Parts: sequence; C-alpha cells; structure tokens
Amino acid sequence: MSEGTIGSVSEATIGALHRALRQALRNAGFETPDLDARLLVCDTFALDAAGLILRADEPAAPEGAERLHERTRRRLAGEPVGRILGRRFFFEHEFQLSPDTLEPRPDTEVLVELAAEAFRKKGAGHLLFADVGVGTGAIGVSLLALFPESRCVAIDLSEGALDTALENARAAGVADRFLPLRGDYLGALGPRSLAAVVSNPPYIPSRDVDALDPGVREHDPRLALDGGADGLDAYRALTQAARLCLAPGGDLLLEIGIGQERDVRALGEGAGLVWRQTRADLAGIARALWFQSDDRA
Ligand code: GLN
Repeated sequence: MSEGTIGSVSEATIGALHRALRQALRNAGFETPDLDARLLVCDTFALDAAGLILRADEPAAPEGAERLHERTRRRLAGEPVGRILGRRFFFEHEFQLSPDTLEPRPDTEVLVELAAEAFRKKGAGHLLFADVGVGTGAIGVSLLALFPESRCVAIDLSEGALDTALENARAAGVADRFLPLRGDYLGALGPRSLAAVVSNPPYIPSRDVDALDPGVREHDPRLALDGGADGLDAYRALTQAARLCLAPGGDLLLEIGIGQERDVRALGEGAGLVWRQTRADLAGIARALWFQSDDRA
C-alpha cells in the first residue's frame, strides 16, 4: 500500500486506517481480507473486536500507524497474518510461533477432536500420550487442557520448536504435564509405554514443497512440511513405531494430506494396527485417521 492510501499517518483515525487496510487487502485479492485487517488492526492498537468499533473515531497513535503500515507491507508481500503477529489462535488457546514451528491450521483441530473422542472412549484418566513433531504444541497442549490428568511426551527434532512448545504449554497452564523430548519419532520410548500417539507430521512430497503457496513455502519450516519423495516417510516410521510403543488397545491419531487416506490406512494396517475412523475437515477433505493397536496383543 502506498503512503497515500492510508492518508497522513499523524492524523488518521483508527477506523480510517482499518477501512484503508481492508480495502487494500481486498484489492490485492486476499482470501480473507476483512479478517486479516481486523486481526492486524486489533493487535497493533491493542483492541478487541468491540474496541475496534467503539474507538473507530479516535486518532491513531503515530507509532501504531507506523507499525500498521509496516505490517501491511509484510501482508501485501504474502506473509501470513499469524507470522506477522507471531501467534495464532488454535482450538482453545493462543500459540506463539517461531521460525522453527509450523503455523497451526484450523484443519488440525479435526485431529484434536478425533483424538479427544478416542481419549474419552478410554475413560481418559492418567493417560500418557506422545505428540510427535510437536511444533508449537498446538495438538498436545490442546489435549492436555481437555484431559487434566493426562501427560504428554512432546517430541520434536528441532530444539527451537521444543522451546516454543514449552512456552505455549506454560501459557496454557499445562507445562507440569508437558515433557519435551528432542528426537525422531518414538525411538526413546519403551515398548507398550503409551496410551496414545498423535501427530501432524510433514506430509508434502519433496518435489511439491517448492510449488506450495509462498505464504507456506517461505514462512513454515521445511522440516515440518517435507514428507520425503512420496510424502509418506513419516507415516511409514510412525505406524511401525506406534505399534511397538502403544499399550494394547492404544490409539494412533494422524493428520494426513490431501489424497493420502488410502495409502496411510494401508501403512497402518500393514503395521498391524486396526483402522477405526477417518475424519474430514471443514472442506470435506479426509484429514485425520484413527488407528488402534490390537487389545489382545
Ligand atoms: N497443512 C500444511 C499445508 O498444507 C502441511 C502440514 C504438514 O505437512 N503436516 O501447508
């Protein structure tokens, strides 16, 4: 946006800046211009949605207007709003992001819901579960908050992601039940030690990563996206590892990418797990799979 579109930075009202930003994002063809504009303006001027309306006619503080101008520039260059703000709301909590973490997506809430159903079927209680490739902690922290007696082994290859996840666990008040562990999959865990494993692993085929939307490709870490030649490497490892580490009747809950249901289901069944359910996301895309280990094993 040019300086002229938002008018004189020292005189504009919050409402005028908001309208100008909304229009600029609409003109640029963004998918959710109104939401993006609201999030950016509210954060910049420390307003909630009501404040945005009530204080629309107040002059914007010049530092705020400058900051919004800079943030607008970043948004127009394709940076996702969550990255600009450094945090994103997921399920029932807000999560800080870092360069080492994938930005949590609404699609992944389907995985949390399916996992919550699986946990409830067990009667919850003191269950110990692992979140593999924990990232911001979005999945594990959300489940810990829903199941106050559960504990989560939070596994990630990235030290930076584990730091961010632990901070997010603290903010949600669940850090005492959140156990960060640096590593690959479930190698450090004993046989039959877990009641459940949840994961949103990297699942984009390597050759497709460079063709992703720039908002994803340039801002989400490649380690959290690249699933190997066919996108299924993590599922091969996870289904085998889960079969060993799950207690009898234990649950494996996996997010999957578009068109991966058949292959991932075959991998789970090939590893000796029993497929229980597939859950679609809001767009109707099969997004989460639930497997169980044989309870007679
Ligand atoms: N859902 C992300 C995307 O489509 C990918 C996340 C992942 O690989 N687990 O960009």
